[in-house]
Amino acid sequence: MDNLTAKQLRDQIAAGQISSLEATKAVFERIKRFEPTIGAYISIYEDQALKTAADIDCRVAAGEPVGQLAGVPVSIKDNMCTTFGATTCGSKILENFHAPYNATAVEKLLAADAILIAKANMDEFAMGSSTENSGLKQTVNPWDTTRVPGGSSGGPAAAVAARLCYAALGSDTGGSIRQPASFCGVVGLKPTYGRVSRYGLVAYGSSLDQIGPITQTVEDTALILNVIAGHDPADSTSVDETMAPVCDYLEKLDQPVEDLRIAIVPQFAAGADEQVQKALNEAVAVYKKLGAEIIDVEMPHLDYAIAAYYVIATAEASSNLARYDGVHYGYRTESPSDYIEVYSKSRAEAFGEEVKRRIMLGTYALSSGYYDAYYLKALKVRSLIRGDFTRVFEKCDCIMMPVAPTAAFKIGEKVDDPLQMYLSDIYTISANLAGIPGISIPCGFDENDLPIGLQILSPTFTEDKLLRIARMYEKETDWHTRKPKLNHE
Ligand code: GLN
Repeated sequence: MDNLTAKQLRDQIAAGQISSLEATKAVFERIKRFEPTIGAYISIYEDQALKTAADIDCRVAAGEPVGQLAGVPVSIKDNMCTTFGATTCGSKILENFHAPYNATAVEKLLAADAILIAKANMDEFAMGSSTENSGLKQTVNPWDTTRVPGGSSGGPAAAVAARLCYAALGSDTGGSIRQPASFCGVVGLKPTYGRVSRYGLVAYGSSLDQIGPITQTVEDTALILNVIAGHDPADSTSVDETMAPVCDYLEKLDQPVEDLRIAIVPQFAAGADEQVQKALNEAVAVYKKLGAEIIDVEMPHLDYAIAAYYVIATAEASSNLARYDGVHYGYRTESPSDYIEVYSKSRAEAFGEEVKRRIMLGTYALSSGYYDAYYLKALKVRSLIRGDFTRVFEKCDCIMMPVAPTAAFKIGEKVDDPLQMYLSDIYTISANLAGIPGISIPCGFDENDLPIGLQILSPTFTEDKLLRIARMYEKETDWHTRKPKLNHE
């Protein structure tokens, strides 16, 4: 049973062949065995999950209609608000925060009859590329427990890879779905900005943040996107469906894209290590064999993406995180000597190093005298990057590139060198700056047997085509079927 995909499990539960209760119990068995090593979860909801699973079995047995994810155990990154349990965002400042409402994406999972089994670990406030910045715990990579799972959605990605859930939701501000998916050998999709509601997602960089699926297969990603996509009146940046209709992403998934034209950016990809480049070239060759035309393009402004991103993201973060003041909600210092210390000590005591660094960077970039030189300049670079994509997409259906310069790195390797950590985001952040969708799918292993991902980017609101392109590859290869060997397995 643990070898089923989310879609297979859903189909078998709906057909009455497997009970959701059994499937959910089996997941908790695995959690008991492997979670102490992997550390994917911040909180686990066993009783609630088993009860929901039993209810769904009753409804199936009674012939009542059930939702698209009926009975499937899923986890969510702990930056999505839930009325049950805490919503910590991986931070001590929110360790005991109980949200008064559910995020829209969570509501949609519940309405689709998914079983929410756990909330998963992450870098504090989603700031990081390795989950080492979590203020609460360490998550390891299921393929090699001395390595990071990637970040900031390292918990959800490790959980899917270790089969501690059938699918998960992550969030991606600069790569936090795609990069951990790549490091853990699973599929991760960052949808177009505005495709999925951000209501109830704890804000990091509001013009960049987007919720998306992390799953075992492209098919499962299409299934989850079907559930979470769509306009939400509670999020003014979610896009009106009359402008960009949501479609059934599963329906045409198996229809290959005809006359497929793929762009690659050779100079840019050359920055990745040799084995990552080799895996990319081999993946592109698979598409060529399927009849795709490959064109080389130049995207001169991508070189500036890291600089622009780390100004824009930190500027937005400094503003978004001003609300954690020890007064409204969250952690409050125990011994303030005056009201100023309520603010300063609460923030000093409960925010981690990386979060403080970013608040300071962002505040500096927004301060008068520096605003034009940094923030405004970064916005201009963002427009140029967007322009590079628009120009290239006139000539092709999608762009392929690495997800990250290397496979998963060692725990501790980059944590003391923030610049090295930032540089590892080079391939993912431009999709967020441009607002376009991007997917990471497994495309090979390096010499240490660590998974490598292929990144595919496409124009805004073309997730249907993007998923079909990804699926063409998945049908030709078996990388996505490989599973890490865990202790005692
Ligand atoms: N690694 C990037 C950062 O630290 C992206 C994080 C994310 O996508 N949430 O900002």
